[in-house]
Amino acid sequence: MTDRDSRVTEGLPRTEKGALGYNSSMPRVTCEALALRRSVFGETSQIAEFLTRECGRVALILKGVHRPKARKGGGVDLLDHCQIVFTSRGRSRSLPPLSERVVLSHHPTLRSREDTLRAGLYAVERLRALVPEGQRLRGVFELALSAISTLDSGLAPQSVPSVLFALDGGLLRMSGFQPELDRCVSCGRQPHAKHSLRCVPAMGGVVCSACFVGHDAVSFPLSAAGAGAVRQFARVQPSAVRDVVLPPAIENDVRRFYDRTLLHVLERPPRCAAPAN
Ligand SMILES: [Zn+2]
Repeated sequence: MTDRDSRVTEGLPRTEKGALGYNSSMPRVTCEALALRRSVFGETSQIAEFLTRECGRVALILKGVHRPKARKGGGVDLLDHCQIVFTSRGRSRSLPPLSERVVLSHHPTLRSREDTLRAGLYAVERLRALVPEGQRLRGVFELALSAISTLDSGLAPQSVPSVLFALDGGLLRMSGFQPELDRCVSCGRQPHAKHSLRCVPAMGGVVCSACFVGHDAVSFPLSAAGAGAVRQFARVQPSAVRDVVLPPAIENDVRRFYDRTLLHVLERPPRCAAPAN
């Protein structure tokens, strides 16, 4: 391997030279992946987008998977957790072909329930919106896998919102969009813990009552208890809140916080609504 290869493949779990070893600038990448999107390509092929720990979101072409006698086990399903092998194309714009795929989990329990399936589709939409393409975001693969595995674990329906809050909280923190909740973004003072906070997404966080003037359409209230829950959700893995059921008033507060914050960040409402109790 040349120096260039070692830089390209740095941090990857397993890479191999091309089959003949002659094209050393295109390392083979073997990694775990979560399927986020799939679309038909031509008559027999599929394009699938995966979230990977090492390369972020990557789109790959699965040639011939829709042929009647396809040897690669048919097309990819959304939310499949797989081990995949592909040859990185570096900065080339052409889609790399997927050369091998082993399904590690199809998440059958998640798929068997309407609420967890909807939650899974919501997770896919959030991941696609907040994880940049082709860029590694540390911890995001573990966060995503924790959310999907927990939704597949037969959890109580009342705990599904908590799992999605932990996913939203982690995604906002990792992508740098977590609003400031501990200080007023205008004067820098710590808001009084007893009071309901006023959150202004366009200003990047909460504003104290002295600084908040008038009622603008884009601010919303956040109770002190709701803010406490949001702080916790930003730091935990979804699996850690598998049994957490929030009191309805706090759950509503937290849901409004994530809905409004993500609406501001993404500038559009989600197409797939999260299941509510
Ligand atoms: Zn202030």
